[in-house]
Amino acid sequence: MDPITLAVVGVGKIVRDQHLPAIAKNPDFNLICAASRHGKVEGIDNFTSIEAMLDAVPTLEAVSLCMPPQARYQAAVTALSAGKHVFLEKPPGATLSEVVDLKALAAEKGVTLFASWHSRYAPAVEAAKRFLAGTRIRTLKIEWKEDVRHWHPGQAWIWEAGGLGVFDPGINALSIVTHIMPKPLFVTKAVLEFPENRDAPIGAEINFANADGVEALGEFDWRQTGPQSWNITAETDAGHMLLSHGGSRLAIDGREEDHGPEAEYPSLYARFASLVRGKQSDVDLAPLRLVADSFMLGKRKVTEAFHD
Ligand code: NAP
Repeated sequence: MDPITLAVVGVGKIVRDQHLPAIAKNPDFNLICAASRHGKVEGIDNFTSIEAMLDAVPTLEAVSLCMPPQARYQAAVTALSAGKHVFLEKPPGATLSEVVDLKALAAEKGVTLFASWHSRYAPAVEAAKRFLAGTRIRTLKIEWKEDVRHWHPGQAWIWEAGGLGVFDPGINALSIVTHIMPKPLFVTKAVLEFPENRDAPIGAEINFANADGVEALGEFDWRQTGPQSWNITAETDAGHMLLSHGGSRLAIDGREEDHGPEAEYPSLYARFASLVRGKQSDVDLAPLRLVADSFMLGKRKVTEAFHD
């Protein structure tokens, strides 16, 4: 089978760190061009807008949209309208409604739309899902605490409305939880902390419940220095589950098994290829819905100004 001709759009940190190496190793894709206002990818044709790229390269079949979420909808409409398959970085958009709109457009055009959630492909996530499926869960806790200055230096969009603030990493935890929980969680209470000079939260405490009576707590914080915490713990009838390091490691009552090396982006591109070949879409909005509900129910607390 011929490789799928692909472009990356929005050439920044995640394109360089993850997309380019994963695409290079996947024979199902041939990266032929890129579109970005400033960024460039060496060795292929570069354009400063997606419109100019689509006009100039009619053989292009698919695009990966890696710009911040506030700018993703317009680029996705342009690509889908031109009959291209679309890979959306997480979060798939700035609002739920715009992604629903994209899903309908992809169906109308007969092309693939893939809302990617990279953390779902972390090595120990499937094992955690299997463990939880076989027991009764009593409580669940998400602890997603990191240092924003270390991980997001100079990223202005992340602090603007639609940038999600602390939910930009936090939605990775929610993408795991929505995948591993046997019954879906919903938000029952939320407190969001906004720096007085920013339009997105720096911290959030979210309470969840589900139809089985499980109560869950999510603590999201961008002010953590020292060791970083990307943990999901559960108290269950079969013991204490710790899914740590962003889904890479799983321990039950302290006993850990090896679940192999990290391969999140290679797995995402394998999934995208199989969706395109199978003429299917995969657009799960559950993680973004929990974030939206947190904003809907959230009590707002103003906290001290944040400076880079
Ligand atoms: P980034 O480097 O700040 O942004 C990516 C590129 O998008 C920028 O270099 C910029 O390129 C373009 N861009 C920025 N603002 C834009 C705007 N308003 N309109 C159009 N293009 C714009 O961010 P990133 O870290 O790569 O993150 C991008 C997306 O990937 C986010 O949704 C993020 O959640 C997700 N992601 C990031 C990471 C990570 O570790 N950084 C991990 C997983 C997923 P030009 O100026 O050249 O247009």
